Amino acid sequence: MSDNPCPAGAPSALDVLQNVFGYGSFRGHQAAVIEHVTGGGDALVLMPTGGGKSLCYQIPALLRPGAGVVVSPLIALMQDQVDAVNQLGLRAAFLNSSQDPTERRRVEKAYRDGQLDLLYVAPERLLTDGCLDLLSHGKIALFAIDEAHCVSQWGHDFRPDYLGLHVLGQRWPNVPRLALTATATAATRSEIVERLDLGGAKQFVSSFDRPNIQYRIHPKTQVRDQLLRFIQAEHAGDSGIVYALARATTEDLAASLREHGVDALAYHAGLDAARRRAVQRRFLNEEGVVVVATIAFGMGIDKPDVRFVAHVDLPKSVEGYYQETGRAGRDGLPATAWMAYGLADVVQLRRFIAESPADDLYRRHQTRLLDAMLALCETSDCRRQNLLAYFGERIDPCGNCDTCLEPPETWDGTIPAQKLLSTIFRLERERRQHYGAGHLIDILRGNRTARVSQYGHDQLTTWGIGADLKDTEWRAVIRQLLARGDLAIGPGGHGVLVLTEQSGAVLRSERTVQLRRDLPAARGKTRSKGAGGKPGGLGGAESPGAKAAAELSPDNQILFEALRAWRAGVAKDKGLPAYVVFHDSTLRALCLADPTDKADLAGISGIGQAKLEAYGDQLLELLAQHRSD
Ligand code: ADP
Ligand code: ZN
Repeated sequence: MSDNPCPAGAPSALDVLQNVFGYGSFRGHQAAVIEHVTGGGDALVLMPTGGGKSLCYQIPALLRPGAGVVVSPLIALMQDQVDAVNQLGLRAAFLNSSQDPTERRRVEKAYRDGQLDLLYVAPERLLTDGCLDLLSHGKIALFAIDEAHCVSQWGHDFRPDYLGLHVLGQRWPNVPRLALTATATAATRSEIVERLDLGGAKQFVSSFDRPNIQYRIHPKTQVRDQLLRFIQAEHAGDSGIVYALARATTEDLAASLREHGVDALAYHAGLDAARRRAVQRRFLNEEGVVVVATIAFGMGIDKPDVRFVAHVDLPKSVEGYYQETGRAGRDGLPATAWMAYGLADVVQLRRFIAESPADDLYRRHQTRLLDAMLALCETSDCRRQNLLAYFGERIDPCGNCDTCLEPPETWDGTIPAQKLLSTIFRLERERRQHYGAGHLIDILRGNRTARVSQYGHDQLTTWGIGADLKDTEWRAVIRQLLARGDLAIGPGGHGVLVLTEQSGAVLRSERTVQLRRDLPAARGKTRSKGAGGKPGGLGGAESPGAKAAAELSPDNQILFEALRAWRAGVAKDKGLPAYVVFHDSTLRALCLADPTDKADLAGISGIGQAKLEAYGDQLLELLAQHRSD
């Protein structure tokens, strides 16, 4: 720190929390982790996104002599990370490939001279001889390995360079190491321990529940319209992320949202680096921007006020889905995780797996991940219960997911299932041919298409016996049978449906088929009052930030808007995202507490010493002016 803001002598972790970060108390395991690492111990920290992992290494780095070396794969975000901690008065810098040599030499010198509290490094750079050599010419307070799940070879964020990080422990056995991640299945956890050589590390595992996020999964019909209606009705003017599988989809959807007045931008790995940076910059620095992206976007984005995350295609695993949705509502205010999912998604992802050039073991692993995802989509029980059970946590029904808010009806689908399976059985046995969902539904519903006539399928005994169900209802039946494993996608990759070992039991009525009745697509936007939301149908009249201002008196709302306008000016001048200056929650606390001097200001959550000095006078003036108006 430029001047040590802590009292003389050895400051405590709590002093640092209060004086530097401006927060009153630690959350969850933070205090325990900080104590353990400050004392020299290794740690594995599992906390959900938004749980407060950064403090777990930032504070020990300040309390121990030397610089905390933070290993992070997020090259594009290092500047932001450094800007944010510089705003707190910490001395931080980064080393990565995006830097010019002069700047790099400046950072290296600062490190050697002991002038840094935090040094962010990309793993590929860290592992070069040059960088390891540099580190040995200065004092290292600790190693923090952020996004540690990147070491997991079967995970969705695998970075080969992470595998080399075990050398840190060998080379610097006395420097504490912490691995941090928001991905937490038992398998990933043990992979991290093994590959990073953290067998002796103490493990700190937090609850992964994010109660402020409302989880909803809707049957997919016209996804473009569904998404637009969702955004217009519930999140007009809000920041959000929409995830799609294909690059082309991200561009199409972004264009269509823009036509309807949503400030949407596409992002995928096929865009050039400058364009990707520009999109990221607008998303971080401006309010109300929606990014429509492939999963290439989002890791490390710590924008606290992302109000929704939408999936228009089925994610490949629950782990990935939970990470992506976790980017919503880091500020703890109400947020929505919305997904539209349909039969075509199941067919497509099963096909990807079948066609993947990888070995059987890998394919079986991918199939297990997808099965868990499908079970989540088709559950009639609480979504959050299902999600957290995946991470080994048990909870009561949450009251803030679609199935809790509007429990779905179930119905006995045994007979329709038998009609479908026996059609497939006949076609397989008599003609040794396989067909996809569309054609099977035509047979069952008695639609005399050209294809039906050509193959003589109107002669089958099951022809027309399923006219009582609509096309969409048949698709729901097929989707759920696939999810249950009573039906499968055949090899060859054309979405053909084949029987499984379980099919026989259904055909013989030894296995009944309880299905969930899809809600009409337009429904399901009720918000629980408990989560601070409002009834559906807000009609787009809301201003961004309205959710943080909710529950403020009319007078305080005026003050809140004035503070936001002031913050926007500061952010613009400094080229920083508004939330790096102050979070909405800090502005809200200012409205409620109405402090009149610097001592009172210092007591507001989010105002540490550096920000008090930088902005205290301006804030007091603004507050005084509001009082006299
Ligand atoms: P993570 O990296 O786990 O996703 P962060 O470290 O970015 O989470 O923290 C999430 C947000 O919570 C940040 O804005 C951070 O400043 C804030 N925060 C962290 N710890 C505390 C605390 N003890 N009190 C108040 N706010 C906190
Ligand atoms: Zn629930």
